[in-house]
Amino acid sequence: LNRRLTEFGTTIFAEMSALAARTGSINLGQGFPDTDGPDEIREAAVRALREGKGNQYPPGPGVPELRAAISEHQQRFYDLPFDPETEVLVTAGATEAIAATMLALLEPGDEVIAFEPFYDSYAACIAMAGAKRVPLTLHAPSFRPDLDELRAKITPQTRLLLLNTPHNPTGMVLSAEEQDAIAALAVEHDLLVVTDEVYEHLVYEGTHRPIAALPGMRERTVSISSAGKTFSFTGWKVGWVTANGPLVAAVRTAKQYLTYVSSGPFQYAIAEALRLPDSYFDGFRADLRRKRDLLGDGLRAAGFEVYQPQGTYFITADITPLGEKDAYAFCRALPERCGVVAIPNSVFYDDPDAGRSQVRFTFCKRDDVLDEATSRLQRLA
Ligand code: PMP
Ligand code: GLN
Repeated sequence: LNRRLTEFGTTIFAEMSALAARTGSINLGQGFPDTDGPDEIREAAVRALREGKGNQYPPGPGVPELRAAISEHQQRFYDLPFDPETEVLVTAGATEAIAATMLALLEPGDEVIAFEPFYDSYAACIAMAGAKRVPLTLHAPSFRPDLDELRAKITPQTRLLLLNTPHNPTGMVLSAEEQDAIAALAVEHDLLVVTDEVYEHLVYEGTHRPIAALPGMRERTVSISSAGKTFSFTGWKVGWVTANGPLVAAVRTAKQYLTYVSSGPFQYAIAEALRLPDSYFDGFRADLRRKRDLLGDGLRAAGFEVYQPQGTYFITADITPLGEKDAYAFCRALPERCGVVAIPNSVFYDDPDAGRSQVRFTFCKRDDVLDEATSRLQRLA
């Protein structure tokens, strides 16, 4: 393994899901639902396979039906026009979109400012591009970014701001004022903005507003999203990028040599999913909001300090009230102690002390599973 990657090893998601499988625990660690998305979308994938749509290499930028549906989705929800021919790129999940974007836009030595705790692939992709991550730490309990600190971290080497809203793992959703301030800094310092919006349809307080919609931002923003979370098909790995033509062309250049194309039949199915009526998106969000409250109440009853998320399907909780202080040790021991798996947030920080007592639980699970998990956790005390 080269020097750029030695610090990365196995991702925490794989480590903790393996621990859950090995111990037969309830897995509230890795974020994937235990109920598949809509039947008609699954059927659309089967139909595409049967009809021979996408069984051979689809076009590099994605099948035209899906690119059109992504463009319509951006228009419908955000009033943002993107030309499906030149301003939309289909990727193998948001993960590939993040990698291709970093590899396409960064020079060795460039600095990338990203919220910490960060989703683990950000650090690895920045490193693979030979660039340097500069964390902007979000602190409990509110996890709001300190915008004076952001300004102070911008140097002549800063090339891009990597945003994530709604934010994994904290559930923080950037406010309109924060986005305005971040956009103004990007314009003032002529920075690119890459924004990971995979939880765009899981906002419980306020609404999701893509930063690409703000003045001066369209030409400098790469927006990334994915079907995995919105439609509960995380295994299909269909993601996308929307940006102006030159930025999409740059990301496409890198994507060509990572996967060349993304898997075909699922693209046709996700094109149908993106055109589902508003009632699908509203119902999905309402269901997850209810589950957030179910898990939050259960964790509070078990003695955790719960930080209420405004978006995503994760809750970050503090273990200090349980007399614990080390999240990683706590998560390693949890299956043995009560048959539940969670993710230690400490691994998403450069400063190991910063998130030491925080753990993340997902609530994208059936109600009976959440009930059973929280009753097991209540036996910890
Ligand atoms: N970004 C964030 C913030 C995520 O939580 C995830 C996991 N869904 C991804 C990117 C990766 O998405 P995908 O599964 O589509 O690659
Ligand atoms: N995004 C999911 C999470 O945060 C996991 C995806 C992955 O395993 N890479 O749990």
